[in-house]
This record gives sequence, structure tokens and C-alpha cells, in this order.
Amino acid sequence: MFENLSEKLQRAFKNLRGQGTMTEENIQEALREIRVALLEADVNLNVVKDLIDHIREKAIGQEVMTALSPTEQVIKIVHDELVTLLGKDTARFQFASRPPTVILMAGLQGSGKTTTSGKLAAWLQKGGHRPMLVSVDVYRPAAREQLRVVAQSIKANIYQGDTKGEPAGTPLVERLAKEARREAVITGCDTLIVDTAGRLHIDSDLMDEMAKLKALLSPQEILFVADAMTGQDAVRSAEEFHRRLALTGIVLTKMDGDARGGAALSIRHVTGQPVKFIGMGEKPDAFEPFHPDRIVGRILGHGDIMSLMERAEEKLDRKKSEEFARKALSGDGFSLEDFRDQLRQIKKLGSLQSIMKMLPSVGPFAGMQQMADQVDEKQFTRVEAIINSMTQKERNHHEIISGSRRKRIANGSGTTVQEVNQLLRQYAQMRKMFKGMGKGGMMQRRAMGML
Ligand code: GDP
Repeated sequence: MFENLSEKLQRAFKNLRGQGTMTEENIQEALREIRVALLEADVNLNVVKDLIDHIREKAIGQEVMTALSPTEQVIKIVHDELVTLLGKDTARFQFASRPPTVILMAGLQGSGKTTTSGKLAAWLQKGGHRPMLVSVDVYRPAAREQLRVVAQSIKANIYQGDTKGEPAGTPLVERLAKEARREAVITGCDTLIVDTAGRLHIDSDLMDEMAKLKALLSPQEILFVADAMTGQDAVRSAEEFHRRLALTGIVLTKMDGDARGGAALSIRHVTGQPVKFIGMGEKPDAFEPFHPDRIVGRILGHGDIMSLMERAEEKLDRKKSEEFARKALSGDGFSLEDFRDQLRQIKKLGSLQSIMKMLPSVGPFAGMQQMADQVDEKQFTRVEAIINSMTQKERNHHEIISGSRRKRIANGSGTTVQEVNQLLRQYAQMRKMFKGMGKGGMMQRRAMGML
């Protein structure tokens, strides 16, 4: 996400830092680099112009803040302006005062509408809601089937209805939508997510049908699902949909593959509508509310510790982690079995790359973001395979793992003796390091707690 943009902006700041004194000339040069970085990221031209004007105004006329160096002040201005551009506060999701809350999903075919409908249902379920899904794409049976599969995978309610014997058209769409809402009420579902038909291009039939659905259902939310990777095309479609339907928000999908960020940085300014959620992968849980400040943190290389902590809070078994920390710091140390448990826990947080990219590029984790691309994810799997091939006794008493045992373990795990040796060496180093921390008193323990 945003890799290219992030790299270029950080380079601009680095050049600025390299200058001895901050002159108007230096600032102009940095602004030029920021402008190029934004344009290359496919940010809308007007957005870039406004943004640079605002930054220039503040940077050149800035009052001297003693707590920050001039470069840091410029970075702070860029940060604040980007957050403002993205909408400052996290946009709220609207619930009806009397359920069911109806959410109409709009978007072009392939934008990720069906996947996102499922993700939204899973997100609502996590928040204690009972969503019901319905697909009114009567033109493509495969699309209805796709939603059924998605609903099944997340154990969400879905209204299928009977479409046989009636021609595919708006009357059938309206009937299904009405029935689904009734079904939601009867079955006690408090939200209804309506996945609609997408088209390859905007056409008037599609818009008419959406307008009719809107009139029929009076939805609290009309979310436009846009593929972030299509850049300014996504922005233009959102603009058109908003003109016809008055959207309440936008969901940007495929942010995981969007290195540039042009759509993300332009869509709110151009449409006036907030991005409410982002999709970060194909799985149902690769979905999060859009927090402007965190996103800007990621773009500027400050990382996104908040989101990482939330993910950890949600996915990790706190008791297990505490138990591991206690053992690791104690005189006995942690066993290979404990180590494997921890690896499995970390894997729940996502790929190593994605975790490293959320760490700040300055401070104790400096360099981790840059290293992320070189990480071999398979290494994780190999280490786990090696430990799996050990007997329980070996896992709990590593000192008994002799040469012949190492050979057996390597064979069993499809690795080499060198790899087994390397793992055992690393394990021994880690044990020593943690034990040292255990002896090292509160400060170091606190530091570890922060990890
Ligand atoms: P629809 O035609 O708008 O309903 O689009 P789909 O929901 O069928 O999605 C189209 C493709 O995009 C599918 O292969 C999805 O798995 C994929 N997709 C959807 N959202 C994301 C996302 O956030 N990240 C990635 N990498 N793929 C996504």
C-alpha cells in the first residue's frame, strides 16, 4: 500500500534534512519534489494543486516552533494537510434508529462489490450485529451464487428468494429487495446489505435501477465500492455515481495492491464523500474502517502501530503471550514448543511483510519497512516444519538434539541439517537474549512489553 508514494515523499524529506539551513528556496525544492511524487502517484491534478498551495502557505509563513526542527515542521504540515485532505476524522457508519439498517452497495463489475458485501457483513457480526445479505444481481446467476458462498464462509444470513419464472429485470430486483427486507425483520436481522448488479461501464439502465432501489429501500448508507488500483477511473466513476445517487460513502478495495494511492488521496476531495472502509486482501477479514491519520502515518513512514495493536488485541491469545513472556524472562527460558506456539500466534497477524510495513521507519524499528520486501515468508513455514519434525521431548529439551537427531529432523521436515543447525543456533541466542532482559530489571522489561 502506497509504497511508491511513500518512498518518494520520504526522499523529499531526507533531502530537506540534508540542507544545513531552511531557506525559502529549500522549501520550494521540497515542495516541487512532493508535487512530482503526488502526480506520479496519480493523484488528481486539482487535488495536488490545492494541497501544495496549502502546504506552501503554511511552510513559508510558519511560526518557529521550538520543539520541532524546521524539517520536522514541514513534515508536520504535510502530515496535517494530508489528514485534512482525507477527511480528518474516521467517517461514521450510519445505523437506522429503527432496524433494519439498509446498506446499498454500488459499483462497477469487478470492483470487489460482492467480496466487500461479505466483508462488511463479517465486520458487522464482529461488532455484535446480525446482518442479512441479499444479491439482487438477477442478470448474473454466478454473482448471486458467489454471494451465497461468501455468506456461507462467514456464517452470515442470506436471503436467496425465488427468481424462477420471472424475467430478469428491475421488477424482479425490486421484489427480491422488498422480500429480503421483510425477511430481515422477521428473522431479527438488524442490517440488510444489498449487493447490486455491476456493469462494465456506467449505463443509464444500471443507474435507473439503482435509483429505484434507493427510492424503495431508503437506505441509510449507499456505499460506492471502488477498485483503488484503477486510480482516477475509480474517482470518475465515484463522481458519476454520486451525482446520480447521492452516495453516503466510499469503500476502496484492493489497497493491498495499490502502490500509488492516487484514488485514495483524490476521491474524497473530488466527490466530497468520505472513504469509510478499505479492503486489503481477498479474505473476509482483510477489511478495516478508514482512519485518515493512520493512513497518512503509513504514507509518511511513521507506520501504523495503532492498527497493528488492534490486530494483535483481536487475534492474539493474551494469556499465551503473557505466559511466553514470563517463561522467556525466567531462568529456565522458553522451549522450542513455546517458540512454535509464538510463531503460530504471529502468523495470525498476517504476513511478516505486512507486519513490518506497519512499523515506523524511524526509532527502534528503523529499517524494518525497507527490509520487508526481502523477507522470505516461506522461512516461517520451514522453521515450523523443522520444529514439527522433532519429538515432544526434543522440543522441550533442546540439548538432547544430537547429530543423528538433527539428520532425522532435517529429513522429516524436508530441510537440510544446516537449516536445522541454524534454527537451533538462533533459538539459543534468543533464549540468552530474553534471559538477559529478565535479569535486566524494569526498564528493559517495559521495552519488551512495547514489542
Ligand atoms: P464484483 O464484481 O464487484 O462483485 O467483484 P468481486 O467481489 O467478485 O471481486 C473481484 C475480484 O477482486 C475478486 O477476485 C476478489 O477476490 C478481488 N478482490 C476484492 N476485494 C479485494 C481486495 O481488497 N484486495 C484484493 N487483493 N483483491 C480483492
